Amino acid sequence: MRRTALVTGGSRGIGRAVCLELARRGRRVAVNFARNADAARRVVEEVSAGGGEAASFAADVSDPDAVRKMFAGVEKKWGPVEILVNNAGMTADNLLLRMGEDDWRRVLEVNLTSAFLCSKAAVRGMVRARWGRIVCVSSAAGVAGNPGQANYAASKAGLIGFSKSLAKEVGSRGITVNVVAPGFIATDMTARLGERAEETIRSGTSLGRIGQPEEAAVAVGFLTSEEASYVTGQVLRVDGGLAV
Ligand code: NAP
Repeated sequence: MRRTALVTGGSRGIGRAVCLELARRGRRVAVNFARNADAARRVVEEVSAGGGEAASFAADVSDPDAVRKMFAGVEKKWGPVEILVNNAGMTADNLLLRMGEDDWRRVLEVNLTSAFLCSKAAVRGMVRARWGRIVCVSSAAGVAGNPGQANYAASKAGLIGFSKSLAKEVGSRGITVNVVAPGFIATDMTARLGERAEETIRSGTSLGRIGQPEEAAVAVGFLTSEEASYVTGQVLRVDGGLAV
């Protein structure tokens, strides 16, 4: 059965790898992006080249109207979203005393409010179908905290509470809601952290290396699979053993 998946922030980094992983598993993939249409188009082309089906959908997922239009667009093309991956995210790091209110609000809206808006839009159809998979991409920072990331860590911890609550609300309808919490993964987001920060993180992991987007994507692939039908409300850390 070819199910329809929507991946927010599917144009780059972990989201891109999730799109390719879900396509490899035979899903139709809606690749959401905010600004980078070329990158989203390349993901669609990669999926098509591999014999899969994908299309890109522009929307700032923190904007309720844009989210409504995006879901309407996906539904018109393929029917209701059956698999939702709330992956879009951003950072605006600073120490608390220097953190502006705009950076606090924007990070909470893009990372957390987006999951509320997209999940609400997706759950209606999932309840009707009595089947659904939702995965939120949190972060090790949401579990353990990180200096300079009070806004980001709050948004990522919020995703965990959100997902566990929703898992309890919709479990009886055959819908699972889980969290993937990556550690340090090599993407555009972490490229700007610099070699010193990277070395500190690398030495803190049991595996002694940073992760690749594909290594986070397989966790999402599993949690959205038909087989993961008795796994819900969980936080799966993909962090190379950072927490061990
Ligand atoms: P990335 O390389 O910076 O890519 C971010 C993606 O999110 C892009 O596709 C971007 O779209 C999209 N995006 C940003 N703001 C958006 C918005 N308002 N509406 C819709 N899409 C938006 O980031 P990444 O490293 O792959 O991170 C993906 C997720 O994993 C994030 O939630 C991040 O917090 C989380 N994470 C990452 C790491 C890591 O080490 N990389 C660790 C833990 C958690 P455009 O291309 O259009 O800008």
